[in-house]
Amino acid sequence: MIPSYDPNDTEAGLKLLEDLTTNAEAIQQQVLHQILSQNSGTQYLRAFLDGESDKNLQSFKNKVPVVNYDDIKPFIQRIADGESSDIVSAQPITELLTSSGTSAGKPKLMPSTAEELERKTFFYSMLVPIMNKYVNGLDEGKGMYLLFIKPEIKTLSGLMARPVLTSYYKSQHFRNRPFNKYNVYTSPDQTILCQDSKQSMYCQLLCGLVQRSHVLRVGAVFASAFLRAVKFLEDHYKELCADIRTGTVTSWITDSCRDSVLSILNGPNQELADEIESECAEKSWEGILRKLWPKAKYVEVIVTGSMAQYIPTLEFYSGGLPLVSTMYASSECYFGINLNPLCDPADVSYTLLPNMAYFEFLPVDDKSHEEINFASHSNTDDEDALKEDLIVDLVNVEVGRYYEIVITTFTGLYRYRVGDILKVTGFHNKAPQFRFVQRRNVVLSIDTDKTSEEDLLNAVTQAKLNHLQQPSSLLLMEYTSYADTSSIPGHYVLFWELKPRYSNDPPKLDDKTMEDCCSEVEDCLDYVYRRCRNRDKSIGPLEIRVVSLGTFDSLMDFCVSQGSSLNQYKTPRCVKTGGALEILDSRVIGRFFSKRVPRWEPLGLDS
Ligand code: AMP
Repeated sequence: MIPSYDPNDTEAGLKLLEDLTTNAEAIQQQVLHQILSQNSGTQYLRAFLDGESDKNLQSFKNKVPVVNYDDIKPFIQRIADGESSDIVSAQPITELLTSSGTSAGKPKLMPSTAEELERKTFFYSMLVPIMNKYVNGLDEGKGMYLLFIKPEIKTLSGLMARPVLTSYYKSQHFRNRPFNKYNVYTSPDQTILCQDSKQSMYCQLLCGLVQRSHVLRVGAVFASAFLRAVKFLEDHYKELCADIRTGTVTSWITDSCRDSVLSILNGPNQELADEIESECAEKSWEGILRKLWPKAKYVEVIVTGSMAQYIPTLEFYSGGLPLVSTMYASSECYFGINLNPLCDPADVSYTLLPNMAYFEFLPVDDKSHEEINFASHSNTDDEDALKEDLIVDLVNVEVGRYYEIVITTFTGLYRYRVGDILKVTGFHNKAPQFRFVQRRNVVLSIDTDKTSEEDLLNAVTQAKLNHLQQPSSLLLMEYTSYADTSSIPGHYVLFWELKPRYSNDPPKLDDKTMEDCCSEVEDCLDYVYRRCRNRDKSIGPLEIRVVSLGTFDSLMDFCVSQGSSLNQYKTPRCVKTGGALEILDSRVIGRFFSKRVPRWEPLGLDS
């Protein structure tokens, strides 16, 4: 069922893509049929479907419910704790993938199988002919892709729990990939697989710089990670150049990847070190990517969704190189690819590959992107039945409409709501193309963190209760937030309007109290936020900007002047750049930062 072709044969790859998208409807039917045939004996499906005779589309739609993570968490937890995979999947679950989406503050765990790694390999292979269609000569050099692994843990069952990319990079599919001249990287696998992210970054940049004359494209998975690499380079270029000059690797690289880096350095190179150092010593780093990697044709990083906030900074460093978002994927399933990779980042759409999973779409409100009030669509109050009426198949989505994606995978997820909101922008043959709109309920995101309005409210409430009421006796009148990515790494900013409990005077702000508030908020945010802050250092210290009394009234006036209804006005819990941010920033009376890193430790084994 998983197709393959010779990745060096661009024509064959493009033809396969045409076949898949042309036959999207039939392929979706086959996918569902295969998933149901394979898994009809699982405990999960047996609870809804009545054996053989019930393996058809209609029974599936009528009887298997659309679910959220909390509905399936007990099943997955049982597998993590050592029960048999066949609770959800006939094929053995070989690992659990830790998503950056969280449940009760911890990463969601997604089942995966050996076969799924093959499906991912196929998916990656489909990106090659598309890039080749638009960019010539990619087989004549290398890609400098900065790729990293993250910590993993063994669950009680012995299964590993780890992020999806860590799983892929550690797999034989990546490590023993057949040689293909379109996929030659500057980073030796050992540097990608290095557990220490700082050593990994240093070594990968060193290898990328040494081989700069061969580099045809640069990138990382997400824009945030790539920009962190640029900042790292800014902080370490002298040391990197010293290593190139002497042909040695600095002493703090103790990981076993050291030898692979030494073999790439291949002796001292004074001239190269001087060239790089003089580019890096320039006062402005505008266009630095082009200067350091003069043959690079594009920067491959995801800049859609929450990553769009990094486009201006990337444009500054890239000196006009196209920013290419190639794919849309998750721990649950890999979804789709961008068939027009050189397009403007604002126009990126992903075409879903119909053989990756069975896809359904739950319509959401076109304006608010929130769930449609199903009850208003019918006179019955069985909400699940109404949802079933509205949910549509892959090929039946309507251009211009917004949907939440619902997936049934080969790995044991059935009608699972991923939480991503997508807008249909068109079709490629019979396969729809989607713009990524947003993650359901997420207000703040800097890296892979996804903080919801509710997470933020809980954290702010905790800080307020523990630090504002006693001893300072301040009232938190209003708050909002902002993801500040003007420096690297970015950080969360909270705007707080504070008032003394017993007067209308401006509040007296005590540094220690406010810093404690910053730290308390961080302590209360979820596992992924704290991992980014603590281990990955991909988010900077949280900041509270206290604004003068009356600021949130001005914010309301502004929002109403921009079209918000006064009756229904709700303080936005997150603002983006623009007028609202200017109003808040112009009224700041105090700025405070968290002075300590929040607690974080690798995922516990408890449920
Ligand atoms: P994870 O489960 O941690 O791998 O995160 C997957 C999530 O990252 C997806 O469900 C999306 O919300 C987001 N994501 C992945 N790829 C893209 C993309 N190309 N554009 C925007 N968001 C993305």
